[in-house]
Amino acid sequence: MTHKTIKVALIGNPNTGKTSVFNQLTGLRQQVGNYPGITVEKKIGSCKLSENVKATILDLPGTYSLNASSIDENVVIELLMNKNDEYFPDVAVVVTEVENLKRNLLLFTQIKDLEIPTILVINMSDRMAKKGIDLDIPFLEKELKTKIALVSSRKNIGIDSIKNLILNYESLSTEPCLNASVIDVDYFDKLRRAFPNQLLYKLWLVITQDVNFLNLDRNEVQSNFTKSKTELKRLQQKETIKRYQFINDTLKIGQKIDVSKATDIRAKLDRVLTHKFFGYVIFFGILMLIFQSIFNWSSVPMDFIDETFTSLASYAKSHLPAGEFTNLIAEGIIPGIGGIVIFVPQIAFLFLFISVLEESGYMSRVVFLMDKIMRRYGLSGKSVVPLISGTACAIPAIMSARNIENWKERLITILVTPFTTCSARLPVYAILISLIIPDEKILGFFNLQGLTLMVLYLLGFFMAIVSAIILNKVLQFKSKSYFVVEMPSYKIPMFKNVGINVLEKTKAFVFGAGKIILAISIILWFLGSHGPKETFGNAQQIVENEVYSSKLKINPSVIEDNVAAYKLENSYIGIIGRSIEPVIKPLGYDWKIGIAVVTSFAAREVFVGTLATIYSVGNSDDETTIKNKMAAEIKPDGTKIFNFATGVSLLLFYAFAMQCISTLAIVKKETNSWKWPIIQLIFMSGFAYLVALSAYQILK
Ligand code: GDP
Repeated sequence: MTHKTIKVALIGNPNTGKTSVFNQLTGLRQQVGNYPGITVEKKIGSCKLSENVKATILDLPGTYSLNASSIDENVVIELLMNKNDEYFPDVAVVVTEVENLKRNLLLFTQIKDLEIPTILVINMSDRMAKKGIDLDIPFLEKELKTKIALVSSRKNIGIDSIKNLILNYESLSTEPCLNASVIDVDYFDKLRRAFPNQLLYKLWLVITQDVNFLNLDRNEVQSNFTKSKTELKRLQQKETIKRYQFINDTLKIGQKIDVSKATDIRAKLDRVLTHKFFGYVIFFGILMLIFQSIFNWSSVPMDFIDETFTSLASYAKSHLPAGEFTNLIAEGIIPGIGGIVIFVPQIAFLFLFISVLEESGYMSRVVFLMDKIMRRYGLSGKSVVPLISGTACAIPAIMSARNIENWKERLITILVTPFTTCSARLPVYAILISLIIPDEKILGFFNLQGLTLMVLYLLGFFMAIVSAIILNKVLQFKSKSYFVVEMPSYKIPMFKNVGINVLEKTKAFVFGAGKIILAISIILWFLGSHGPKETFGNAQQIVENEVYSSKLKINPSVIEDNVAAYKLENSYIGIIGRSIEPVIKPLGYDWKIGIAVVTSFAAREVFVGTLATIYSVGNSDDETTIKNKMAAEIKPDGTKIFNFATGVSLLLFYAFAMQCISTLAIVKKETNSWKWPIIQLIFMSGFAYLVALSAYQILK
């Protein structure tokens, strides 16, 4: 039996239901990756067409036309122009939808001009009756020189007919619907004569677009056939007008709309949801609700995961033969994996909500509402979601920036999101604030400590916005600057789409960023649990000798705490912490704080735990004990270590420093390069250092 594979490219405007069609065709047989060198998501799925034929379906990014203005759109053109690409399609499937057929067909006519066998999918057929739309399919097939599948991906109707058309793609016409030369007859005549073997429309795209394809010398075409920019613009506009004329003529006969039959509440809803005042109130209300739910709902599975991994680790420790290998498993690998899995509930819930907002059509209203404000800072209306999600955790927040189509806006959002105060910073803030800010009320109402906490949150947002403005000026990218406000109709979210999206995002995190998090956790574990033999190796003896020589009667558990503190101090991480003392001294920190700063690289909240160990506080949950110990710590000159100046300096350091390996890992994953996380690390930590330094020097 021979097995044949047909290569299919799925193309369409955003919001036509392309993803839903893809999901229906491929189910869970999907792979998500990236196009080489860029961050545009590449989704490939497979689908069985008959006993011995299957299709490989490439879901291309949504695009409005072949006049590329973003990297996402470039991907589409570069693939369709390059016959040598391994994914060059045998057949293109263009997805459109009944309500916006006119606009959707523009892209269709352009694809047809590339003379690739093309199938037209008209999706959302379930809405035809409600909208009073009637289509003359045979007429449209004849005019558009294609085969049409009338589909409702929501109701799973017509998916088989797409499969059938793909199976028989060889019988499709490759004739264009439009003659490209109508754009400028003389000019196209010359082009045709100069390159008799090339497709006219391809030549036109090479002239007007910034695309490369292998079998044509772009310089040769461009140098002989260049026109001025304004002339090209004019011709492009003319092209669009000609296409719309053709589409209008076709739809005049092929599509009947009886408005009297249409029933719609959309306009009313829109008036409220995009209202100048209530629109914002509703949006922030929804956001609050979402984050409350994420916090509440996630805490149960997170606690469960935490406990499971802790007991797994202690089980491993007690049941495996004692030794280095067991330590690696029980203290390095198991907690490392636990540190990845613990993020899963938050990521899953956030994406559940985001998918529902997107699917329902509400997200487009949010973009419409927020875009004007955010665009001033180089961000997108959709950046609001990551920026606010960042208050829970930067990991899912940065992943949610994927919804931003424009790469520059997405990158800026990714880079500034870690400035927002995540929940891991809370324990650090809480203990430092309680040490240096008096628990008093001002103006009889505002609690001073609470006010400080709020200022720290606001500082985070403020820095995020300031950095966005700077990045917007500094980063020079070719990136779409115009903005299509599209208001798709409201819909009940499709369970399958939401489910697949949540699954995909969670998988991407666990297997993408997870690897890096695990590797760094193991390195940090090694550095924290190993040290030079003479000090680290003999910790127990050294501490016991000290205790015995002091002749005091000391409780064995206190000795154990002291051993732990001594070990941490003399581990490699301790040595690093101590050796950076000269660098952090001007900030008001001693080597003990230095160690805590280094270890809190694993996660910020580790700061408190580390100090607890160093100050040999037995029960690290008991905050008052750590607090008392910290408050009692004195410098050699007798003054307090955690004085006001040092406290403020530390607070500011933690507010601005990029100090969480998981965030670095996710930025690496999302930007597809080490360049951005490293720049982010250097910039944020450098800035944090300078601010902390100035604060300490001024206040001391
Ligand atoms: P994409 O942006 O083109 O990938 O579109 P999606 O697949 O994300 O779908 C956009 C919206 O249309 C979502 O709210 C879907 O639930 C909805 N949708 C998709 N297919 C259908 C359909 O056949 N009928 C209806 N009524 N809605 C659909």
